[in-house]
Amino acid sequence: MRLETGRKIVVKLTFISNRLAKKHSTGTFHPESPHRIDVIEEWIQSQTHENVGYELLDQSASREDILLIHSADHYNLIEKTQGYTGHFHFDADTAANSYTFKAATQAVAVGKKAILESTVNSSIFALVRPPGHHATRTSPGGFCIFNNIAIAAELVLHEKKYDRVAIIDFDHHFGNGTAYIHEKNPNILYISTHADPRISYPGCGFVEEIGEAEGRGYNISIPLGYRSSEADIKFAFEELILPVIQQFQPNFLAISAGFDAFEKDPIGVLGVTSEGFSMIGAYILKISSELNIPFANFLEGGYNIYSLPKLISSYISPFIQDDQERNYYDISLHPNDQTIATVNRAKNILSDYWQL
Ligand SMILES: [Zn+2]
Repeated sequence: MRLETGRKIVVKLTFISNRLAKKHSTGTFHPESPHRIDVIEEWIQSQTHENVGYELLDQSASREDILLIHSADHYNLIEKTQGYTGHFHFDADTAANSYTFKAATQAVAVGKKAILESTVNSSIFALVRPPGHHATRTSPGGFCIFNNIAIAAELVLHEKKYDRVAIIDFDHHFGNGTAYIHEKNPNILYISTHADPRISYPGCGFVEEIGEAEGRGYNISIPLGYRSSEADIKFAFEELILPVIQQFQPNFLAISAGFDAFEKDPIGVLGVTSEGFSMIGAYILKISSELNIPFANFLEGGYNIYSLPKLISSYISPFIQDDQERNYYDISLHPNDQTIATVNRAKNILSDYWQL
């Protein structure tokens, strides 16, 4: 894949939130708070860019859609929290209130709309709460209830709308739910950059985790060391992500967009600057435009309430602005030794499956 500066297409970007996103609550002082949506909404409404839209969706996904990947026990457990007063705690950091079940089924519905309706020139950003990428087949976890992106990917394969979906997850944390749900599926390629599991939740996502059975080679984990920046993510894209995606030739690109890799995130250990998110956006657009495939974003983490709108604004700027002159890839930072070693090791392990 050629590395070009600037961009080719301007994408209309529609943020869609689930109506009950802000009613789902995880408890006082929890970083995954309704204010995250408040500040993003305020920012969207305060700016008037012609290529940015905003909608609220009231629909809920069906039980059938959710059971495409989640167990009936998981679904029933969440459904039961509707009658609960106060907060029901699934584990130390994941909780539900009486609105959570409905909010979560709506979040799945937004994700479904995003993957079914995004086109090459008109992309949906699922601005949802609760987030999804840590939810496994059988359990909520890591602030996540149902796995919005994993359900969406499974659904389009099931409906035969697409037959190869690539998921790129740039959230600070490894999307263990998404990775393991699809680990045997060679039609869903999952690629994640995340903080080293030895120093970060969820404690997995090592470079050796490449999928299982038929799906071996279709999970790619790129753990990054303490304070790694966009330079490390750039190195991962250039050396590994772009070549693999080029060979996989997906029909759709789904993004787990988390903003907790930001250098000032209250729960993160990585060091991506706000400009770094523009570079990531530029890579996403580059893949979409060079393969001529649609993409959609799914909000995952990002807990710096003051900076979150700025980070999202930075991330989407390559999509919506016709700025051929700007080179988003021209950054002054350099990858660290750990990243270079990790990416080289990943290339070595994955060379049985991809030309690297
Ligand atoms: Zn995260």
